[in-house]
Amino acid sequence: MLSDFGEVLENASLENYNTYGIKTSCKYLVKPKSLDDLQRVMVYLKENNFNYYVLGKGSNVILPDHLFNGFIISLENLNKINFEQNLVTCEAGALLGTLVKEAIEHNLSGFEYLFGIPGTVGGALYGNAGAYNHSIYDCLESITILKDNDIKTLKKSDIKIDYRYTEFKETKDIIVAATFKLEFSDKESLHEIIKNIGEKRQNNLPLQYKNAGSVFKNPTGDFAGRLIEESNLKGYAVGGAKVSEKHANFIVNTGNMTSKDVKELIKHIQKVVEEKFKIKLELEQIIIDWD
Ligand SMILES: Cc1cc2nc3c(=O)[nH]c(=O)nc-3n(C[C@H](O)[C@H](O)[C@H](O)COP(=O)(O)OP(=O)(O)OC[C@H]3O[C@@H](n4cnc5c(N)ncnc54)[C@H](O)[C@@H]3O)c2cc1C
Repeated sequence: MLSDFGEVLENASLENYNTYGIKTSCKYLVKPKSLDDLQRVMVYLKENNFNYYVLGKGSNVILPDHLFNGFIISLENLNKINFEQNLVTCEAGALLGTLVKEAIEHNLSGFEYLFGIPGTVGGALYGNAGAYNHSIYDCLESITILKDNDIKTLKKSDIKIDYRYTEFKETKDIIVAATFKLEFSDKESLHEIIKNIGEKRQNNLPLQYKNAGSVFKNPTGDFAGRLIEESNLKGYAVGGAKVSEKHANFIVNTGNMTSKDVKELIKHIQKVVEEKFKIKLELEQIIIDWD
């Protein structure tokens, strides 16, 4: 029965499914190999009232320390990318980095400023990922979702988005694919842009440690990193979780970091920054709480 759903692993470690490297696990890890597999598994989960959670690359989440007694759905096998002139259709499990590079090889511009953001296209669309004043939604035409197990296509103009926010954070629909319209360009100049971005990221971010990107959203007109740094919190640690010395809006895993460590550190940062600046930092990362 479970084999009808694609690849299924029992009692699976999720250490490689979250970029913080939190050592947690789940009862079942399901990786559908087709949209039909995904629909079948969703029917099964609903009929049996089983808990589930959709995970991309786990590069924006803080998973709990304890086992998830349910089903983690990974779309990593749904990763096809198809180019037709300047239109790109992509399944949600494709890696954003692969999409960026393939677009450039097709002499297409639109994704280059997203270079260096890890994770899947589905995860990026869920959270409206972006950098350098560009977002995954800039070139979006439409998104295909699974809503109550029906396949629906939403035009960009029908989707509510904001800074690191989309309506999918409320609806919990599963994003299965998206179509983007890019601009024709030349790969040499696009390569130059990603080279510069790669260097900036390498110089500014603590990429040698496990992390999950920016911890907090930037408050309007300010930077979370500045507020944390000026609160003298760089290097402050709880267990294996430490405020990066390189970029104060990053928490890094210095070895054996637990979910409890990172959550305690987050609370401490929020408290200290609020006392000093009267600003409550809002999380960009998503704390997942499963029973
Ligand atoms: C070194 C580093 C640098 C980063 N830089 C940036 C940056 O510059 N800009 C930026 O915006 N982010 C950045 N991030 C954060 C992160 O990479 C992005 O938010 C990314 O888009 C998350 O994708 P994911 O597949 O890892 O999602 P996950 O972390 O796996 O999931 C995030 C949320 O999306 C949901 N989700 C995932 N896939 C689907 C789907 N198919 N359908 C419905 N819901 C889904 C999950 O349920 C979860 O709630 C960075 C992270 C790291 C580690």
